[in-house]
Amino acid sequence: MQYEDFYRRSIESPEEFWAEQAQAIHWHVPPQEILDYSNPPFRKWFVGGQTNLCYNAVDRHLEERGDQLALVGWSTETDSVRELTFRELHREVNTFAAALCSLGVGKGDRVVIYMPHTVDAAIAMLACARIGAVHSVVFGGFAAHNLALRIDDAQPKVLVCADAGSRGGKVIPFKPLVDEALARAQHPPVHVLVVSRDLAEVSLQPGRDLVYAPLREIHADAEVPVEWLESNEPSYILYTSGTTGKPKGVQRDVGGYAVALALSMWSIYDVRAGQVMFSTSDIGWVVGHSYNVYGPLIAGATSILYEGLPTSPDPGIWWKICERYGVRTMFSSPTAVRVLKKQDPEWLRRHDLSKLQYLFLAGEPLDEPTADWITSALGKPVIDNYWQTETGWPVLTLMPGVELKQVKLGSPGLPSPGYRLRVIDETTGEDVGPGQKGVLAIQPPLPPGCLTTVWGNDDRFIASYFSHFREQLYSSLDWAIRDEDGYTFILGRTDDVINVAGHRLGTREIEESVSSHPAVAEAAVIGVHDEIKGQVPVVFATLRQADGDAAETACQMMRTVTEQLGAVARPSRVYVVGALPKTRSGKLLRRSLQALAEHRDPGDLSTLDDPNALEEVKRALERGADAGN
Ligand code: AMP
Repeated sequence: MQYEDFYRRSIESPEEFWAEQAQAIHWHVPPQEILDYSNPPFRKWFVGGQTNLCYNAVDRHLEERGDQLALVGWSTETDSVRELTFRELHREVNTFAAALCSLGVGKGDRVVIYMPHTVDAAIAMLACARIGAVHSVVFGGFAAHNLALRIDDAQPKVLVCADAGSRGGKVIPFKPLVDEALARAQHPPVHVLVVSRDLAEVSLQPGRDLVYAPLREIHADAEVPVEWLESNEPSYILYTSGTTGKPKGVQRDVGGYAVALALSMWSIYDVRAGQVMFSTSDIGWVVGHSYNVYGPLIAGATSILYEGLPTSPDPGIWWKICERYGVRTMFSSPTAVRVLKKQDPEWLRRHDLSKLQYLFLAGEPLDEPTADWITSALGKPVIDNYWQTETGWPVLTLMPGVELKQVKLGSPGLPSPGYRLRVIDETTGEDVGPGQKGVLAIQPPLPPGCLTTVWGNDDRFIASYFSHFREQLYSSLDWAIRDEDGYTFILGRTDDVINVAGHRLGTREIEESVSSHPAVAEAAVIGVHDEIKGQVPVVFATLRQADGDAAETACQMMRTVTEQLGAVARPSRVYVVGALPKTRSGKLLRRSLQALAEHRDPGDLSTLDDPNALEEVKRALERGADAGN
């Protein structure tokens, strides 16, 4: 099948196209109407259809593949591997669902899941889906403040947590954080259910807190009937990362999400029933939801959940897992690859990767040096894909399942089915032509799988996403350029733009240029206030060789940028540091860097991954730039 025909049909005959795709999942009651767009920008897909995410992910496969592995939880943190077949997963999910029901959880109730990236977290999610409860997974690395905000917004009946997480061998007890969050929250849950991994002692508040193990025994044989939900009822809430103020709860539906994931599994990721997918994301992020839990399981594939660092016990660990389970498609992030890039590529080559067909990378710009390095180290196609928490599945990518494989370096590719993309001039609101820079927007109605609203706040949904242009377009607030062939290049968030002497520059453009220097591992560029030019670009970079000549390389970085992008983009200063401050999901904390560089308070650092990185930056600023003034 050819991509062009496939995509064109999704745009020209959307109802016919999606009705066909909807056949990939099980409907208890088939949809009566494919699309209801009578109340824009809200839209409803598969109206009147009744289905269930857990049924599609688990029960549906029992007959044909009950003994096939469904989930593998590999933890280098606890030195353990847990394998569950679809039958075993079905058992565990029923038991967990029965435990939730015994605590009074029913259809429409919210359950906050605050757990590390383990099979137990996936079981808790699927158990919620089974009984029609709405889960809100909160990333296990978030602190009490973030957890409390999310609790107050979702107002859950139950909070499920682990006794502890572990990172780089350091145990992080969760229960004290939960207790702190609950003390702050205005709407604490009625019960806290603690799933113990025997990593930390937990203190329980009588009447409120329970340990899961005894409930698991009580409900060991429970059969919990599936709650059939109308396609547009909520399945989960996931709060968007990186925003200031109150987080936005992205609300997902049931039917549209299941159909979009089923479609993406074969057409984008080229994974079918019986095959294996390994996503290195965390259950706390959208990739964890879509491509660690629901997507692979709905497709009848095996999904691998990995808890640990990519370099521990050695940098070969991910590839060892690929060999062990015959992984077909792997999914990771450019940041993770840049971590590996500091290692010897021999670590990858030591393993038999003959079954591995693709590595997909998403979440942030994929710079050319990183793409080149991993492509040659792996010898497999490396495919960039662009999407957001809001969209739930890729917006732009290549689709090897429909014969779209032509990589254009620097571009995530072409639109996924159903996405009508436009590139809009920020000031005039008109579409820009090929090769011209504008803001990426999606022509509504949004395809299945994308958010349906902001939890409890339809006004905020409209204000945040549909109010940027004259026409009610959804805007993802990313700069983009589309070339003559329709390939779209993402140039960074509109909010990461810097204005140097009236010239608008994407920090991503400069970062890419700096990173093209062979000695550079990674770069972050910020715009710092300048008396004369308004803003000037300032570079923070890490080197591939820690003992490299910082001053000389910094001067070369400046020359490289000037050569590639012109004098206007020439960095004012370059600081060479040992690490860059990032969120735990790998996004650069540019605003904190900017604040420090401008001698301001770095702001909310609750999502900061490694506090040392920030200290490094402070020291570098005190010491002075390695190049520039
Ligand atoms: P999040 O919802 O936290 O995953 O962030 C989504 C944002 O990450 C997008 O709006 C982009 O700015 C960025 N992003 C995601 N994927 C890519 C990609 N493949 N290339 C460039 N930027 C990306």
